[in-house]
Formats: sequence, structure tokens, C-alpha cells
Amino acid sequence: MPTNRTFTMIKPDAVADGFTGPIIQQIEAAGFKILALKKVQLNSEEAGKFYAVHAERPFYQSLCDYMSSGAIIPMILEKENAVEDFRKLIGSTNPAQAAEGTIRKQFARSLESNAIHGSDSNENAAIEGSFFFSEKELI
Ligand code: UDP
Ligand code: MG
Repeated sequence: MPTNRTFTMIKPDAVADGFTGPIIQQIEAAGFKILALKKVQLNSEEAGKFYAVHAERPFYQSLCDYMSSGAIIPMILEKENAVEDFRKLIGSTNPAQAAEGTIRKQFARSLESNAIHGSDSNENAAIEGSFFFSEKELI
């Protein structure tokens, strides 16, 4: 995946809370183009695969249960410097520490239920994007 792309998903808390529209509005207003988007629900095995990098962390099982608890909205986004700029837009992992105006500050419920995912590197953006989408789904 080129370096001007990142992967995101709106997480189950934010979808359930009715924040899909406002979050997508802020993503587009920040200059990101949506190349692919869908609504899906993972089972806990699929959530476990997506977050396999965290398998040894104490929060892993709870994270997998949460991420499979409801619908999510995965997306592939395009913008110059996409990975870094998107991490800035969403804010710190813990919404209590996220900067004012960031998506997590505005819409997250908690450290675990933190509204949205953003890839942390170009390499992971490519891996995570291909978890949900094939190249031909990117328009
Ligand atoms: N998480 C959690 N407890 C923690 C750290 C992380 O429940 O102490 C959850 C949270 O949903 C977070 C996800 O695990 O978004 C992945 O953690 P990571 O450290 O990769 O944070 P992110 O890259 O999402 O900011
Ligand atoms: Mg991460």
C-alpha cells in the first residue's frame, strides 16, 4: 500500500452511540478521501487475528470481546502523510489524555472503548487494510 494511505475502523461503541456520521464528517473535513468503506461485525476469532500483536497483553481477551460485540466501520483513507496525520486527528489511546478536538476526546467512552482505530505505520496500514478489503474494492 502506498504511503499516502491509512486504515481505520469506527469501533463498536461509537457505531452503537450513533457517532458514525459525525466521525466520518470530521475525517473528510480533515482532508482524507475514503477509498473503501463497509459495515461488518467480527467474531472474536477474527478480532483476535486483527489484534494478534497484542496477544500477550493483559487487555487482549477483553479487547477481542469488545471488538466483536457489535458492528464496526472499517475504511481505507487517502491523504498525504496519512498515517501520521490520522493518528493526530484521533488523539491518544486513552480519551482522558487525548487533546481537545480529537475524535477520541469527543466520541470515546473509555480507554478500551475508544471509538476509533488508526494504523501506526505504513506497513501496518497495508496489513490491516488487506484484512478487510481487496485492492479492487479501493475506488
Ligand atoms: N487497549 C486497552 N487497554 C490498554 C491499551 C489498549 O483496552 O491498556 C485497547 C484500546 O481499544 C486500543 C487497542 O487496545 O485502541 C489497541 O491498543 P494500542 O496500544 O495499539 O492503541 P492504539 O494504537 O489503538 O492507540
Ligand atoms: Mg495500535
